Amino acid sequence: MLEVQNLHVAYGGIRALKGVSLSVQKGEIVTIIGANGAGKSTLLNTISGFLKPVRGSVLYNGSALPRRPDLIVKSGICHVPEGRLIFANLSVQDNLMLGAYLRNDKKAIQADLEKVFAIFPRLKEREEQRAGTLSGGEQQMLAMGRALMTNGEFILMDEPSLGLAPLLVQTVFEIIERFRSMGKTILLVEQNAFKALQVADRAYILEQGKIVKEGSARELARDPAVKEAYLGSRSRGGG
Ligand code: ATP
Repeated sequence: MLEVQNLHVAYGGIRALKGVSLSVQKGEIVTIIGANGAGKSTLLNTISGFLKPVRGSVLYNGSALPRRPDLIVKSGICHVPEGRLIFANLSVQDNLMLGAYLRNDKKAIQADLEKVFAIFPRLKEREEQRAGTLSGGEQQMLAMGRALMTNGEFILMDEPSLGLAPLLVQTVFEIIERFRSMGKTILLVEQNAFKALQVADRAYILEQGKIVKEGSARELARDPAVKEAYLGSRSRGGG
């Protein structure tokens, strides 16, 4: 469904991606694991058209993606950015409706809004509240709900569990699985490698702008080098 080919991206003289290739099949959850600064957000921002690659291409359902973020959203790819990027002064409902900004199927939009409220009852309760006053976890729910409002079939998720309490981290990963059961395909960037490898089908390890390893999530979760570098003490002692 998504094919990234030999992507090179630079910020001035800083080369952030150095020939990244990967693929995601329909219905999969694929995760990119990497340390701070490995290039994970750069990769997602390039796929969604916010950054222009120096070289390389991104194919979606076999065709090159247009290099414009709005057209990329229209083709069915939506991005839940790191830091959530919600509009603090707008209400919860208005933030959600912004997700549907490029759609004009009014009835389906209303039905999707109901669906989002069914998944996130907390957002329904706070429909009129200013989004900036939501807790961190609620803001993450809002960012995920807004992605559902685009009705995109492919979701790019950047560090959805960042800064959340353990119980909420669990909820976020349950919601990712729920998205999959709704037929969405997901490319997930996470520093919480332990959780990401539990939920994903396949994974890529990104180090300093290069993919250094790929495989099934199960294989990588057992790989001694991956355990040492990304899974820390949680996996030691046979986990
Ligand atoms: P994190 O997990 O910390 O969010 P990341 O893997 O998402 O990290 P990126 O944000 O993609 O990493 O950054 C990759 C590299 O590109 C880093 O060395 C970073 O300093 C650099 N970089 C990112 N954005 C810019 C920018 N706007 N200008 C210059 N350099 C940048």
